[in-house]
Amino acid sequence: MNTNDSTTRLDFIRAIVAEDLKTSKWGGRVITRFPPEPNGYLHIGHAKSICLNFGIAAESEGGLCNLRFDDTNPIKEEEEYIESIKQDIRWLGFDWEDRLYYASDYFEQMYQYAVQLIKAGKAYVCDLTPDEIREYRGTLTRRGKDSPYRNRSVEENLDLFERMRAGEFPEGSRVLRAKIDMASPNLNMRDSVMYRILHAKHHRTGDKWCIYPTYDWAHGLEDSIEGITHSICTLEFENHRPLYDWFLDELGVYHPRQIEFARLNLSYTVMSKRKLQQLVQRGHVNGWDDPRMPTICGLRRRGCSPQAIRNFCKRISVNKFNSTVDIALLEHCVREDLNKTSPRVMAVLRPLKVVIDNYPADQVEELEAVNNPEDASAGTRKVPFSRELYIEREDFMEEPPKKFYRLAPGREVRLRYAYFIRCTDVVKDETGEVVELHCTYDPTTRGGDAPDGRKVKATLHWVSAAHSLEAEVRLYDHLFTKENPDDVENGVDFKSNVNPNSLETLLSCRVEPSLAGAAPGSRYQFERLGYFCVDLDSSVGKLVFNRTVTLRDPWAKIRKAQKNR
Ligand code: ATP
Ligand code: MG
Repeated sequence: MNTNDSTTRLDFIRAIVAEDLKTSKWGGRVITRFPPEPNGYLHIGHAKSICLNFGIAAESEGGLCNLRFDDTNPIKEEEEYIESIKQDIRWLGFDWEDRLYYASDYFEQMYQYAVQLIKAGKAYVCDLTPDEIREYRGTLTRRGKDSPYRNRSVEENLDLFERMRAGEFPEGSRVLRAKIDMASPNLNMRDSVMYRILHAKHHRTGDKWCIYPTYDWAHGLEDSIEGITHSICTLEFENHRPLYDWFLDELGVYHPRQIEFARLNLSYTVMSKRKLQQLVQRGHVNGWDDPRMPTICGLRRRGCSPQAIRNFCKRISVNKFNSTVDIALLEHCVREDLNKTSPRVMAVLRPLKVVIDNYPADQVEELEAVNNPEDASAGTRKVPFSRELYIEREDFMEEPPKKFYRLAPGREVRLRYAYFIRCTDVVKDETGEVVELHCTYDPTTRGGDAPDGRKVKATLHWVSAAHSLEAEVRLYDHLFTKENPDDVENGVDFKSNVNPNSLETLLSCRVEPSLAGAAPGSRYQFERLGYFCVDLDSSVGKLVFNRTVTLRDPWAKIRKAQKNR
């Protein structure tokens, strides 16, 4: 890529940052931040924002990105979430160094700013009930009505606000509001609420405060206090921007530039923390880190690598239009990364016993297998071969239809890294189910080729019956049956679209012995089956794997179809 090329490819936010650097608008500084509210676990949508904010900072000389917990709401926030958020950002590969901030650290400063606005006649204490405030606010087509408390004197406002802080009034009885314009076409400008009374304990400030700033009041101030240059947020805050501008301009304080981008939506996925929490609480999944969840911890447990998630965020880029990304693209990025990095092993998910009648009963051969054809430095390993093996049940058919080239009575196939075998006999149980195959092998085909040049049409994976280890394997499908989970009939919600078959657990799988003691989090390609990751539930005595993604690539097909259109 030449330089011209790379400049034209900058997304619109990076183009703004590049332009600002060129004109030295911020004195050459680039300071971004990632500002999560600690009220749930991070999801893949947050990853988009993390990659953007930390990414832009990392790409700029001297650029910095802060981690700031937006902990202004004492009711929904928990310490547990703070730790998980830090862990997830680190795992994604980003570092806030010593710049870990909390909005609650600015409560005193925010209070002083509010006093400043009251003194300037730009804020007032309002005694309307929440319902009345809503009523007075008007609608898009009906202008709002001034609160009867709007013209209180500065002295009265200062006195009441101080007493709000001192805890003299019950919850919900009073608020502090900005005095802007009840006729503004932008509803956010109609005397927005800045403080409400909440007699609630805060996870960091304890009982020190009983008035808490609203998001609208706090958010712009936090960015101003930290000297953020590019305050990047999602599109729904676009029409809040005039309000943030108003606050900062009335206060006469440092004023970052806010830039809005479209949030990530993924097909077959819900993204809001509120909805994800419902899935956890109602038992549709086994916790926030269930491998079917779009949370970072869920994706990690499933076996996705941080590199794959970063690649995905790069591929989707950022823009100004809301759209839905096909989940197949995420899977494609995961597959692409795991293909490069995962050692290959053999595992049989639904075992069918094969006895090789002409192979000596007491013989075991150690056959050489390639660890990763994509990476010569990964080397080779030995896989034991013996008289009794397991193959995949679906690799055999007694009456094979056309185009089924795998094992069938009388037919010869190759066992990967081993020999040609031919099926000579089929053993069934009383229900007629095939329970065992008898085969012969050709000793001259060791390594996989026949000296006489005869060909076979299929190569199967296998494990040695006596040497393989038992494993549990969990297969996952989309968590929702509909592309848009919110597409529902009247009277039911997105949970009615949960896929009842999103998890299939196989208890009697067999894996090659090199997997003994594989540590949780290790990732492998099971040859011909897909990418798998050792689950947290795994132990030395009982291996448990998650299927991260299958080998087939629907995304490649989609792309091809798009190209051919
Ligand atoms: P949710 O609706 O999922 O609860 P949120 O916006 O309330 O998300 P925050 O903790 O406030 O969650 O988000 C922290 C940052 O992550 C914000 O800057 C927000 O814009 C960004 N973010 C959240 N969801 C997405 C998404 N789906 N795509 C891109 N960025 C997102
Ligand atoms: Mg939020």
